[in-house]
Amino acid sequence: MQKRIDFLKDELNKYAYNYYVLDNPLISDFEYDNLFNELKELEEKYPELITPDSPTQRVGGISSGFEEHKHKYRLYSLDNTYNEEELRKWYERIQKEFSKKVELVCELKIDGLAIALTYKNGLFTTGVTRGDGIIGENITQNLKTIKAIPLKLFEDADVEVRGEIYMPKTSFEKLNEESLASGEKVFANPRNAAAGSLRQLDSTITAKRDLSMFTYTAIIEKAKEQPLTHWDAIQYIKKLGFKTNPNIRLVDDIEGAIQFCKDWETKRFDLDYATDGVVIKVNRLDYQTELGFTSRAPKWATAFKFPPEEITTILMDIELGVGKTGAVTPVAILEPVNLAGSVVSRASLHNFDEIKRLDVRIGDRVLIKKAAEIIPKVIKSVDSPEHNELSVYQVPDKCPNCNSPLVEREGEVNLYCANLDCPSVAKARLEYWVSKEAMDIDFIGPSVIEKLFALGLVKCPVDFYKLTYEDFLKLDLVKEKSATNMYNSIQDSKSRPLSRFVTALSIRHVGKETAELLTNELPTIDDLKSASVEQLAGIEGIGEKIALSIYEFFHDEKNLQMIEDFQSLGFEFKPLNINKTDELAGKTFVLTGTLQNMTRDEAGDKIKLRGGKTSSSVSKNTSYVVAGANPGSKLDKAEKLGVIILSEDEFLELIGENR
Ligand code: NAD
Repeated sequence: MQKRIDFLKDELNKYAYNYYVLDNPLISDFEYDNLFNELKELEEKYPELITPDSPTQRVGGISSGFEEHKHKYRLYSLDNTYNEEELRKWYERIQKEFSKKVELVCELKIDGLAIALTYKNGLFTTGVTRGDGIIGENITQNLKTIKAIPLKLFEDADVEVRGEIYMPKTSFEKLNEESLASGEKVFANPRNAAAGSLRQLDSTITAKRDLSMFTYTAIIEKAKEQPLTHWDAIQYIKKLGFKTNPNIRLVDDIEGAIQFCKDWETKRFDLDYATDGVVIKVNRLDYQTELGFTSRAPKWATAFKFPPEEITTILMDIELGVGKTGAVTPVAILEPVNLAGSVVSRASLHNFDEIKRLDVRIGDRVLIKKAAEIIPKVIKSVDSPEHNELSVYQVPDKCPNCNSPLVEREGEVNLYCANLDCPSVAKARLEYWVSKEAMDIDFIGPSVIEKLFALGLVKCPVDFYKLTYEDFLKLDLVKEKSATNMYNSIQDSKSRPLSRFVTALSIRHVGKETAELLTNELPTIDDLKSASVEQLAGIEGIGEKIALSIYEFFHDEKNLQMIEDFQSLGFEFKPLNINKTDELAGKTFVLTGTLQNMTRDEAGDKIKLRGGKTSSSVSKNTSYVVAGANPGSKLDKAEKLGVIILSEDEFLELIGENR
């Protein structure tokens, strides 16, 4: 047992050093927490083996460079769990203590850096990092550059507040893009970026970084009010001029708190700052005092951590995918791991430049991340002694499918297969043709396409429409009913609006949005064929490069022949706005949550058909928010701004489609 405990202590101390001091985590928080909890459990069983240097006995870590500052009031960490049952157990212990229901306050756990700010007579005097909870670093100068930190309060109070410094996700991405362009250090996540920015010895650098702060605790020494509950304390610090997080809820018991955790498990992805869980605190301050602290955390608070978004695993191989434009992209093949509720065995590596930049090698341990429903991606390789013994990844020079040489295109990072007849490109185009975004053909997916392709029945999209009912029966496992469904759904797609047809053509640089802009201005196929580059570039949202690509497409003999083939097969090329009305002119809709009778895309088409607009974010200019099941934080924002919220039925009624 001693051996395992020593091993865990050494490992955790190594990880904590990389995380706190170097801002460069080696493993995910989830893996760290698992090791930490294992050590805690072992120490509970064998208390005689606890040593003062054990990570369970202390808070965080401190880094050098700044003047040390002893905290007047100690800062603690938080106990945490990923498990509802443990929350209930924690609450039971508290309830037992007071023999009654105990009110709780639920707050989002902001994934940033804890700091303590001191104010004397309402003036900001000192700002210190948490450090080990007893001694932190004096970073007052840097903190003064953060606009959310008031230099003077609205009252003459003496207070110490604690809060979390964070960097908004959008600013983090922008910072990384800029650092990448100038060859500087790229941060693994917004928390590391915030920590790195705050610990700059030159505060003019900190000033350039977009940092903010949510304040969540106050120790009030001298002030007009002396709140008796945590809830009131938060309201009071807001009144003093601090920024507090609006996503906070007072609940009667632990079930209310568990509901809050559930509500935010997915809603958190809509926020522009990272949260890694929920902090649950006993509301009454006298109860907090009575409950007290362990050696590293309060007993009156606990953190519920959301399922991890990041984890490490082994990169077993790098496969090459060929897309509909011929772009060859690397895909990471991983040792399967459970991440955010699903088993992940593939992840995106973006492009070959990214592999070079990250220096990921086959055999490396890599950190992967998954946010909301986005495909997981490889963030970095984890430093390990084995890394240097692995071979550096060699960028391929041939198409993995047809062996043709790969070519570069000016101004683009991807490599392309230049063979117009490459089977992989052809299949990718067919898959895109039937996709929801393009012609939206039900019953035909990648595996049916693979079979049709293998039998030589379909080589390009036109061939779909030449298939007979009997052709489908030639496919493995396909019976009469499926054959009818497949045949009908292909034939039905002939009446899709022109904008979908243009999307499905996979013209370079033209996706769904551009195809809509284009066909709104040029509503017939003849308009598209005869448009000049100048005319195309004159359409709002279409630049020179896109205009040229569209022009070239519609002046290529092969493409014109293909369009004629579609026409002779019965394609209607209906303009989307054939029945367009202006009943929703001037109205902007935001769609959120899952709708029952249609996809959000279809609802968007209905709005556009009636002259309305859709937007992805709620503002005071939004006319309506249509909310389906499990709406995100857009609904909260709409409520706050007083925007009209429609259920799906109310929306259908508004557009006259209610049944
Ligand atoms: P913590 O982050 O789990 O929780 C305590 C902290 O939560 C507080 O100090 C405070 O900064 C913060 N917090 C955010 N919102 C809050 C709110 N509303 N109310 C109160 N506090 C709030 O604990 P920690 O001691 O800062 O760090 C330990 C955690 O750091 C571990 O659980 C692990 O996930 C991570 N870590 C990871 C590695 C790694 O290698 N990946 C290494 C060390 C630590």
